[in-house]
Amino acid sequence: SHAVLCAPDAPVTGAAPLLPVVGAQTRVPLVPGGSARYVDLDAAASARALQSVADRVAEALPLYASVHRGAGYLSQVSTALYESARATVAGFVGARADDVCVLTRNSTDSLNLLAGAVPDGAAVLVLDCEHHADLLPWQRRGPVTVLPTGDTVVATLRAIGAELAAAPYALVAVTGASNVTGESLPLQEVVQLAHAAGARVVVDGAQLVPHRRFSLAGSGADYVVLSGHKTYAPFGSGALVGRRDWLDAAPAYLAGGGAVAEVTVEETSWAAAPHRHEGGSPNVLGAVALAAACDALAALPAGALEEHERALRTRLTEGLATLPGVRVLRIWADSDEPTGVVSFTVAGADPGLVAAYLSAEHGIGVRDGRFCAHPLVTRLGVPAGALRASVGVGSTLADVDRLVTALDTWLSEGP
Ligand code: PLP
Repeated sequence: SHAVLCAPDAPVTGAAPLLPVVGAQTRVPLVPGGSARYVDLDAAASARALQSVADRVAEALPLYASVHRGAGYLSQVSTALYESARATVAGFVGARADDVCVLTRNSTDSLNLLAGAVPDGAAVLVLDCEHHADLLPWQRRGPVTVLPTGDTVVATLRAIGAELAAAPYALVAVTGASNVTGESLPLQEVVQLAHAAGARVVVDGAQLVPHRRFSLAGSGADYVVLSGHKTYAPFGSGALVGRRDWLDAAPAYLAGGGAVAEVTVEETSWAAAPHRHEGGSPNVLGAVALAAACDALAALPAGALEEHERALRTRLTEGLATLPGVRVLRIWADSDEPTGVVSFTVAGADPGLVAAYLSAEHGIGVRDGRFCAHPLVTRLGVPAGALRASVGVGSTLADVDRLVTALDTWLSEGP
C-alpha cells in the first residue's frame, strides 16, 4: 500500500547518541592544521556528562546549602535532595529493603571502605584480572588470596569453587565487567559458589552498572560499588551498596562531624551506617548528579542500552578485524558478550605513540597503557600495554568509524 511504501526507514541502532551528552560537538585543534569534532572513545575512564545530569545540577546549585546541619529552608531542601539521591541510587542497583547505601567519592573509595569493614582476620578471595581498585585494598588489608584467572570462564569458576572448598573466606571480590576487555563472569554462579561456602560477594560495578541493568537482589550479590564519573555524572560521587551488619560494626571510615551519635571528650558513640561512614559535609551536588544519571538510565526502554553498545562494539571489532596486525584482547574464550570496552594491540607499534597520533592528527581520545590492571595486562601477554577504545550512551557509529579510518591511515602511511 501507499502507507507501506512511504514508511520511513527504521532508525539505525547507534547512528545517533542514545542519550544526549554535554559537549558532543566540541572541536579540537589538529597538528596538521585545522580542527575536528572531538571523538571521545574513553567512556570507561570517565564518561561525558548526560545533558539531563547537567540540567539537574544547574537546578540544584541555587538550592545548595548545608546537608544534615542546618535548620534553614535550603538546608532542609539540600538534605532532602541528598537523601532522595541515596534512595534513587539504591533503587537503581536493585538494593534489598535492608541494604545500606553509603555515598562515597568513587569506586576506589567504596572498596577501601568495605575493606575496612570486613571482620578482622577474615580472608578475602579475588582474581588477578581485577582493576587495582579491587585488588590493592584487599592486598593491603590481608589476608587475601589472589587467584590466577583461568583461560575460560568454566575453568575460572572451577578454580574459584576449589579455592572456596579448600579454605574459609569471608568475601569474594569480583569484577562486574573488566575495564580492559568488557568481559564478565556469570555473577549468579559466582554468588552461588561463594554463598555455598559461607562467603559474601562484592561486585566491582564500576564498568557494569553504567552499561547493563544490574540488580543486587536479582544477582544475590551482597555488595556493589560504582563511580559517578563512569555513570555520566562527573561530580565526584560514588556508592557502596549492600548488607548492613559489617557496615554498622566497622570503624567509621572518616572520623568527624556527621558520623557520630554522641561525643564526649573521653569517648564517642558512632552513628549507624550509612552516616557512620560519611563523616564531613557531604557532596550533595555529586549525589544529585549521580541520581539524575540513574534516573536517565533507568528510564531507557529495556534492552536499549545493550543494543546501542552492541551495535557500536560490533562495528568496532569488525572494523579492527580488517586491519592487519590489530589484535583484540580477550580474557576468556567462552565469555558472554562483553560491554563496549575494546582493548587491542597494533603489531610493532608502541601503544602510547598510536594514542598520541590518534589525538594529535585525528582528534580521537582513547586510553593506552596498562589500564590500572597490571597483573591482567601481563597475563594477557602484553606487558608493554595496549590501546583501549570504550563507548557509552553518547557514542555513535560515526565515532567508531573515525577510529577505524584513522588506524587504517596509520597502518598505510605511518605516523
Ligand atoms: N573498578 C574498575 C573496573 C574500574 O574500571 C575503575 C576505574 O577505572 C575502578 C574500579 C576505579 O574507579 P574510580 O577511579 O572511579 O575509583
